[in-house]
Amino acid sequence: MQTDQVTAALEGRSIVLVGMMGAGKTAVGKRIAHRLRLPFVDADHEIEAGARLTIPEIFERFGEPYFRDGERKVIARLLEEGQKVLALGGGAFVNAQTRERIAAKGVSVWLKPEFEVLLKRVKKRSNRPLLQTPDPAGTLRRLLEERSPIYGLADITVQSPDGPHESVVDAIIEALRSRFISPAASSSTFETVRVALGDRAYDILIGDGLLERAGAEIARIAPHARAAIVTDENVAAIHLSTVEKSFAAAGLSSTSIVLPAGEATKSYAQFAHVCDALISAHIERRDVVVALGGGVVGDLAGFCASTLRRGVRFVQIPTTLLAQVDSSVGGKTAINSPLGKNLVGAFYQPSLVLADQGALDTLSLREFRAGYAEVVKYGLIDDRNFFEWLESNWRAVFAGGEARRRAVAVSCGSKARVVASDETEQGPRALLNLGHTFGHAFEALCHYDSAKLVHGEGVAVGMACAFRFSRDLGLCSGQDSARVEAHMRAAGLPTRIAEIAGMKPDPDALLVAMRQDKKVERGRLTFILARGIGETFIAKDVAESDVRAFLVRDLRN
Ligand code: NAD
Ligand code: ZN
Repeated sequence: MQTDQVTAALEGRSIVLVGMMGAGKTAVGKRIAHRLRLPFVDADHEIEAGARLTIPEIFERFGEPYFRDGERKVIARLLEEGQKVLALGGGAFVNAQTRERIAAKGVSVWLKPEFEVLLKRVKKRSNRPLLQTPDPAGTLRRLLEERSPIYGLADITVQSPDGPHESVVDAIIEALRSRFISPAASSSTFETVRVALGDRAYDILIGDGLLERAGAEIARIAPHARAAIVTDENVAAIHLSTVEKSFAAAGLSSTSIVLPAGEATKSYAQFAHVCDALISAHIERRDVVVALGGGVVGDLAGFCASTLRRGVRFVQIPTTLLAQVDSSVGGKTAINSPLGKNLVGAFYQPSLVLADQGALDTLSLREFRAGYAEVVKYGLIDDRNFFEWLESNWRAVFAGGEARRRAVAVSCGSKARVVASDETEQGPRALLNLGHTFGHAFEALCHYDSAKLVHGEGVAVGMACAFRFSRDLGLCSGQDSARVEAHMRAAGLPTRIAEIAGMKPDPDALLVAMRQDKKVERGRLTFILARGIGETFIAKDVAESDVRAFLVRDLRN
């Protein structure tokens, strides 16, 4: 393992080991220091050397408050004196000032042993002043319970089992690596988009190496949580072990629930199956349900998280472009009823979204294109500049790298803004449905058979229809409408209804399907129409006869 890289990536920060007496801080600390070629310092030894007294003697002569004050000062000095591995006494991290100093100058690691292991180790030693009580085991248990929430504030938690110290050392170095080095590139290759929803606000991280960092990022918001990873069989085969390893390195215990791939998985049966699996895995409210996969997994796992125990914490790790720019952001979750798509669901926001750009490298071109339709959508809705940027840069977006990351970040930023202004779609959020009233009708007539049509392809044809319809209604120039089509065709997306292979091009059947769409109000159809690229609006009172006439015309041309 390249440990020099880890030392360099720490950029001068010290590694500070915290935890109970008997957790193995000194033994583990010395080994880490050796591996990372850093000096090792035990804070308790420094205090004893400075005072020329043992810690039990200081306690006895001056009392605990005096000792704690001295301890705080010694640690502050040690942190100022350069990069090192520093082991702290059991109570030091309880001090808020000490924690602040460590946050500024170091990275804290909690060595977390099982209680029995701790007791066994502590019993071997007699010089622990806080355990000079009639019931040392009870005292130790109480101390552990009191301090665990504070130790849990450490940046990294590593289990310290009763075994060889080297495995703990490996786990810490691995956790440091995943926290400070992303394997694909340098450490600062991700950016953050915040979804501003008050006390339910959350971050979307976009960049490389986030699957490897997933454990560390989740541990940051949910230290010591149990995690249940919900994924599908395709994604599991490629990416699950990376995520599982990162959880283990971050000290999170996890179980994985692997489902069949495909839209049919958003069913009542799979909903029950996943909920029962989560209950069997003892997932409680403060634990985390992690959706690893495309929109299907995200919608189903999110709905399970929203209902299980009336709401369990939820994290999205979207692995399709569509899920990264659309379904993982904004909190819509759902399953399908046999009577229609997404009819049973809830608004339920995730606590974090991790959009790993490398994960998209394994996506098929067809699925990537389908997600790209939703990227184009953000330009068409209200950002003409972005649309024009895509016209020039779409090849680079498909190729990956910086352009793709930018496209994902702009799209997420755009969705985050809309969601923050209208979380439950009372108003402007409906703009995100551009192309979707048409698109959903195409999907329905294809019986949601992805061999015939995937969602993004339906949206691409739907957006082209929305612009042609707007042109025919005299709202939008023919030039803009043609430009929308030209761009999507260039990127390999369909734009004409007749291109949907295997769908009977029947205007009346399409109208019936559109009426089923959720966005019907008192017989009038709601459409998102356009005055031009980047200038869309909600039209609530579109006459069915106009829509029918458009469909007939469009199918003839
Ligand atoms: P999907 O989840 O079915 O994924 C598409 C295919 O790609 C699947 O076969 C999957 O196994 C595979 N896959 C996923 N990640 C991969 C990877 N990295 N490498 C290789 N293969 C991978 O479909 P989707 O397009 O991501 O999502 C569609 C679903 O999202 C629909 O059910 C739709 O209703 C829903 N959706 C929800 C929202 C929302 O706001 N909640 C928005 C848009 C769409
Ligand atoms: Zn969509």
